[in-house]
Amino acid sequence: MAELRGPIVDVGETRSVSTQYGERDLAEVTLRPERGQAEPVTLTLWGKWSETAEYTQTGMEVLALGVEREEFRGEIQYATAGDSRIVIEPDYLVNVTDVRSWVQCPRMHYLNTLSGVPLNYPVVKGTVVHEVFSDLLRGGEVEAAIDDRVAEVGLDLGLLDRDADEVRKDVSDHARAIDGWLSQGTLEGGDEWRSEQTLISERYGLKGRADAVRRGAPVELKTGKNTNSEPRFQDKVQVACYALLLDERGEPPDTGTLLYTKNAALDRNEESGDLSPAKDFSLNEGLLDYVLRERNHLAAMAVAGEIPTGYEANATCNYCFEQDTCMVVSGRLDQESKAGRIGEAIPEEERNYFERFYRAIEAERGAVHDEYAKLWTQTATERADADRALIDLEPVGKKEVDGRWELRARCSDPVSKIREGDVVLASDGHPVRGNAEMARVVSMGEEIVVTADEPVELRRLDVYPSEIGADRMLTALHDALLAGDEDQKDVLIDRRDPVFRDVEETFIDNNPAQDRAVRRAVGADDCALIHGPPGTGKTYTIARTVRALVERGERVLLSAFTNRAVDNALDALRDQGYDEFVRVGTEHGVREDIQEYRLESRGDPDERAAELREASVVAATTASCGSRIMREGSFDVAVIDEASQLTEPATLAAVALADRFVLVGDHQQLPPVVQSADAAGTVETTEHGDDSADDGTTGATTATDGSGVVASGTANGTSRTAGDVADLSRSLFERLIETHPEAAVLLDTQYRMAQRIQAFSSNEFYDGRLRPASPDIAAQHVADLPEVTSDALPDRLQERVSFVDPDGTARGNTNPAEVTAVAEIVEAYAAAGVAREDIGVIAPFRAQAAAIRRELPAVTVDTVDRFQGSAKEVIVVSFVATGDLDSPIFEDFRRVNVALTRAKKALVLVGDRDALATDERYARMVEWAE
Ligand code: SF4
Repeated sequence: MAELRGPIVDVGETRSVSTQYGERDLAEVTLRPERGQAEPVTLTLWGKWSETAEYTQTGMEVLALGVEREEFRGEIQYATAGDSRIVIEPDYLVNVTDVRSWVQCPRMHYLNTLSGVPLNYPVVKGTVVHEVFSDLLRGGEVEAAIDDRVAEVGLDLGLLDRDADEVRKDVSDHARAIDGWLSQGTLEGGDEWRSEQTLISERYGLKGRADAVRRGAPVELKTGKNTNSEPRFQDKVQVACYALLLDERGEPPDTGTLLYTKNAALDRNEESGDLSPAKDFSLNEGLLDYVLRERNHLAAMAVAGEIPTGYEANATCNYCFEQDTCMVVSGRLDQESKAGRIGEAIPEEERNYFERFYRAIEAERGAVHDEYAKLWTQTATERADADRALIDLEPVGKKEVDGRWELRARCSDPVSKIREGDVVLASDGHPVRGNAEMARVVSMGEEIVVTADEPVELRRLDVYPSEIGADRMLTALHDALLAGDEDQKDVLIDRRDPVFRDVEETFIDNNPAQDRAVRRAVGADDCALIHGPPGTGKTYTIARTVRALVERGERVLLSAFTNRAVDNALDALRDQGYDEFVRVGTEHGVREDIQEYRLESRGDPDERAAELREASVVAATTASCGSRIMREGSFDVAVIDEASQLTEPATLAAVALADRFVLVGDHQQLPPVVQSADAAGTVETTEHGDDSADDGTTGATTATDGSGVVASGTANGTSRTAGDVADLSRSLFERLIETHPEAAVLLDTQYRMAQRIQAFSSNEFYDGRLRPASPDIAAQHVADLPEVTSDALPDRLQERVSFVDPDGTARGNTNPAEVTAVAEIVEAYAAAGVAREDIGVIAPFRAQAAAIRRELPAVTVDTVDRFQGSAKEVIVVSFVATGDLDSPIFEDFRRVNVALTRAKKALVLVGDRDALATDERYARMVEWAE
């Protein structure tokens, strides 16, 4: 038996032939084995596997397992046999729950992805019952587990107007079923359990979290009832997926179990049938192969960017509980569907908008899938070099704390994209092939601490790519276009200009631009844009705007891309004497001094819901705005900071919750981080994306890998995005400021930089309109700092702006001579009396930042992205590149604007003069600095 893998170069028709076993279907595909390196060979797909040919396209990757190899007239041919399995696009990891909904109806899977699951009682109850299940598996006591888990979802229950006692009673019935079944296991002489196990299969292209694995066999819990002796088909499909996942780990189970917990609550006198909650079934090969074929169909359509119609399956629409939604969505988007359509289609321009963004978001999802594949296609060293993993950790301890495991390990070089608060894959050596658990990073440093549901020998941490950013963008697009306010859509789709009312009141009397910005925001009937260059008091203006709106009786949603910006805005509000706000966010995401305003989800349902419903100001990141809780809310105005860093659909998540919106940002600084070249306009804009980063706290997708090449369709070139694709790297802020400059106010007075420092940025990016707020700010110098003796500085550092060429040579993304030069410069400032915490070093590449950090442990050294929003008295920038500028240094010249405008009193540029002179913008920069 042989194994083949490679891209398909030709797909033949399915046909029937007469064989000694009777009439059989077959289809031939031609592929290039060894991942496209070898000569093409023919693979004959027999029987059910021939269906694969109907949805497979050339260019897609195929993995053929256990196929027969035979020589026919001197030619090698392959064919499926009894035990063969075919996997299409094995690197595309399909979620087990998606296979389940796909089997019910492929279009249902599409509808679920599009609209997200809204807050509803069955889902909340399901979560509680699952948590109780996990608690009981870990030896918890039933009543305590129920009390604890019901209290935990107090906010959800409050928003659903549910009474906690009734929910407790409801959950107890389910818990009884679990407890009874568990004690049966114990009576049988002890059990071997794993709860909530994260499983990834690189062979079958599947991922999922089994509710439990008992003696090596998957167990799935369902809170519904089932009085048949057999489990429901789609439930069996789900468990069969877990069986495939376990099969890859060399532990193929032959039995699966479904636990229908509601059966325990049924009255034997009223219900007939099989009321036992636990139903075992056989995991036969036929079922496993069927499940794999369904998974293949889903992956193939996703990769091809096709939208399911429902005809792919035999589901009966009349029995489908999604029928109404299905018909409405089909009607509104003018899509073909098995259920038919009702209602009027949305206008063509809205459909175009929807489709362009849909494709861009799916391209982003594709890029996330490419990241998944790197978990096994890259070596540990490659992952570490691309800052995607911390490897060779030395475990130093593990202990159980409040039902979770705290794992500790020592790390000699903790440089990576992983940050405190991130969810990562913690493993004993390999994130897929080893023992791995989802874990949350508690602290980073020489000793790394993470928490996980199960203990793992902590030897490696990997960034775990997340589709949640793509999911939330899609839901926001759905909400804004299909359920959005018509008036707001007119402005978003550019069918009419935004309208403004005159506002006479003065809000800020010492800064006319800020005052104009508040008046524009308060007087906006649709939207306003506050354009805030570096250091111009954007956060203060936001806080004043929010207060002005609240004074007028408006309910305000205060949002931003990062947790940091949300908390800064709240801090500014508090400084201005207003703290009647509620902060929505997780405990690890919200700043320490804002925790007291954080909305707890735990507690009395009525109180929790009232806190959220009655707050005049609710603050949350745009990622949180896409959560079930926030989607329940409605506001008069959404004020959104860092809007120029947000993709348009991510902005819609906040915009769709309010009647009007105010976007605050600066499109001359960092643009939205986009992984996929399809969704980013051009490949060039995202090269060197390895050195951009998000703050790890927003649930947004992260930047590209260290290869310098971003994803464009699949690895084998199959496009995920046929048709016109929106450019996600262009924010809604940027689009609106270009189409409606009248909606924007530029904050032109800056409070940060010496005039000499601001000059280049002002001329290059703001038409020379920036000016210092006072003569003192304009004339500031390091000598103004306490303890600093300017005489102690070498001559070349006496100036506020200087350029140093250390005559180095770039080696990849590092430049050792610049590392030394930067260290010397920093030491010179420190020797002159500048505190090390007042000095910052910026490098375009993470590798260079890491090399400098090793020399200067007490100084903040990072890439531009991590500096946005902050400033230092002294900034040193290392440009790394030497020779010529074949590829951009900072992938986008706007990043240079961010780097140069972090400095207050002194700015030192370290680079190769000749190399920089080859680009006219960098040449102007050097000329200005010298
Ligand atoms: S109504 Fe029909 S096509 Fe639509 S999701 Fe349900 S079964 Fe599928």
